Amino acid sequence: MHDVAIMGSGPAGLTAAIYAARANLSTLVFTGDALGGQIATTYDVENYPGFEEITGPDLTARMQGQAERFGAEIVYDQIIEVDFGGPPFTLTGRAATYAARSVIVATGASPRLLGIPGEQELWGRGVSVCATCDGAFFKDQPVAVVGGGDSALQEGLFLTRFASEVTVIHRRDQLRAGPYLRDRAGAEPKINFIWDTVVAGVQGDQAVQSLRLRNVHTGEESDFPTEGLFIFIGHDPNTEIFKGKLEMDEDGYIISNRYMHTNVEGVFVAGEAQDHYFRQAITSAGEGCQAAMEAEKFIARLESRQPAAAAGAASG
Ligand code: NAP
Repeated sequence: MHDVAIMGSGPAGLTAAIYAARANLSTLVFTGDALGGQIATTYDVENYPGFEEITGPDLTARMQGQAERFGAEIVYDQIIEVDFGGPPFTLTGRAATYAARSVIVATGASPRLLGIPGEQELWGRGVSVCATCDGAFFKDQPVAVVGGGDSALQEGLFLTRFASEVTVIHRRDQLRAGPYLRDRAGAEPKINFIWDTVVAGVQGDQAVQSLRLRNVHTGEESDFPTEGLFIFIGHDPNTEIFKGKLEMDEDGYIISNRYMHTNVEGVFVAGEAQDHYFRQAITSAGEGCQAAMEAEKFIARLESRQPAAAAGAASG
């Protein structure tokens, strides 16, 4: 039995682990698919306070080291089922089953896909959602980026380190991205834009060779030769296993109050599993801190109740 089980190891989960372990709570952190979550697939992090520039993997390693220093245990397991009829709460992983007196859900969000012909077939053979992971494969080759938000421009800028040119394909004629990245991308000679256009298909035998593009106004279709397609069109929360167990909105984001409480007492939530608006490493980290402080209070209340209940049972 542990005090706190944290599901997820991004900035929310690891910050929760630092606070929970430092409060002397026995703390497990389940990594999920991969340690670090989305930030670990980001190359340049320029806006995490205290670090003018750091890579996502380095930031993750520092958070992990800090959590472990206080005694948190990182468990490389993926939780596939939860029983929130506690406390204690039961988490079933691929490797084992775990019990905890409180749970912090920090499962984050995953990149959205286009759902077009060729996307799955050419996955890992030119189609990617991770410039940090796959950018280096495209040295001196042209690549395309789909999306018009901060991610598309930030990752597109990163891809200019390798690619001969980066074409950003956006479904509108105005970017959603903020002015800083807009200006940087606009000034980068390797970045071109195709406006008012969607990618209707990915084509190629063994690897991506071209994209089928469709103009959203005229419906006109054309083939666009490229070697890579990087998709940055937003995210969906990783909350499937909580359906019917925690209250969530119509998009699957878990509903919480400002103290990171879910509708189940003793189960807290932090980061992008409940936030579709701010979505920053620093906001997720802050929520992880809040969730851990609330878990600590919850456990203290449990402990103050337990002796009284035991005494009551004994005298009764
Ligand atoms: P986002 O802001 O939701 O942008 C998604 C983009 O993809 C939008 O331009 C959207 O078009 C487009 N899109 C969505 N579905 C599409 C589809 N089916 N086909 C074609 N295009 C589609 O997502 P994000 O860029 O991942 O950013 C998420 C959050 O993280 C934001 O709050 C952002 O500020 C933050 N972030 C910040 C930084 C930074 O500060 N350095 C870096 C990365 C992310 P429309 O514009 O037409 O809706």
